[in-house]
Amino acid sequence: MTYRPFGSDLVYLDYNATAPTRPEALEATLAAMRTVGNASSTHRSGRDASDRVDLARRQVGDLLNCSSGEIVFTSGATEANNLALRAAFARGGKLVTSAVEHPAVLETARALTAERPGSLALVPVNEYGLVDLDDLRATLATGDVAIVSLMAANNETGVLTDLAPIVEAAHERGALVHTDATQLIGRLPIDLAEMDVDLLSLSAHKFGGPQGVGALFTRRGISLPYRPLLIGGGQERGWRAGTLNVAGIAGAGAAAEAARVALAAEVSRVAQLRDALERSLVEQVGDCWVNGKLDQRLPGVSSITFGGAPADAVLAAMPDVAASEGSACSSGAPTPSHVLLAMGRSREEADSTVRFSLGYATTASDIDRAASSVVRAVRQVRAALAAPL
Ligand code: PMP
Repeated sequence: MTYRPFGSDLVYLDYNATAPTRPEALEATLAAMRTVGNASSTHRSGRDASDRVDLARRQVGDLLNCSSGEIVFTSGATEANNLALRAAFARGGKLVTSAVEHPAVLETARALTAERPGSLALVPVNEYGLVDLDDLRATLATGDVAIVSLMAANNETGVLTDLAPIVEAAHERGALVHTDATQLIGRLPIDLAEMDVDLLSLSAHKFGGPQGVGALFTRRGISLPYRPLLIGGGQERGWRAGTLNVAGIAGAGAAAEAARVALAAEVSRVAQLRDALERSLVEQVGDCWVNGKLDQRLPGVSSITFGGAPADAVLAAMPDVAASEGSACSSGAPTPSHVLLAMGRSREEADSTVRFSLGYATTASDIDRAASSVVRAVRQVRAALAAPL
């Protein structure tokens, strides 16, 4: 059974904001909360807590195919991104990232580099949201790059970054590579034995774990002058002091395990549902298009621009569908999506774009219901705007 706290009449298509809790995650979280124990205590009760954390570390490591010793638990991907960038930038040299990153990378990069003019390089993306490798190589050729941080999958468009050649180019120049893989983990398989990134961030609530838990993968053997944000008892190999969030971490581990087991089947099922939604909307609505590199996206994400229909009005006209205007983190703010602007879209187009994100619990009937609500909403908004005052 899937928990649907938002009510059964709401079609939930906002997995990129947060995914419904997986039942396995809820059980593991509750089981940890029903017992008492600080994972740092040496008595039996403490060992029970540290066993739960060890299990979760193995489960997250298995999802990534890395060693559990390479996982640092954090409060989420925002913290993992902050830790990765702070540590890597402390090596000296430039920080290279892209114009379409999540604010947890972009704003951190801006803040870190503010005191050293010229130490930030933002690589542009093309109209499909893809980073230009030649551009990146040219930036790397200027020398003195400490870290390249590029997201594995974009939260607004789902566009995937082809990381392998980027890692190769960066390593040739002695730069470390970090990837914010928050939207990819648990949605597509990843193999860190093959993919040679040095640092990777993830967040449990994007794949059915609790909110407020994430992890930073730090590859064994890389030399990194770590710069903890929280200083204290030295937990998590000194990366993050503070009593471990045992219940949340246990939930994250259980969600990682459940996602790993289900992943192969979910990828194609979710992609088919997303494609059906897009086909249906493009056929029925007219003057609308899907953003991003269509054959290089996460399976469950669809960024659709409805010409002449502001997204806030469309969303308000379909209260039975949960979707997003741009990214959830910037919803409510009057600024247009920096991702769509970086892809060359106009402000008006960006403001008329809705992000639908599907996931493991989305059903075919969800898609049928959502499609008819969206069609009705867009027509209604267009008609209202066309009507004489
Ligand atoms: N990076 C990306 C790409 C995201 O989509 C998000 C969540 N919106 C974050 C980072 C921040 O994650 P968290 O909520 O775990 O801090």
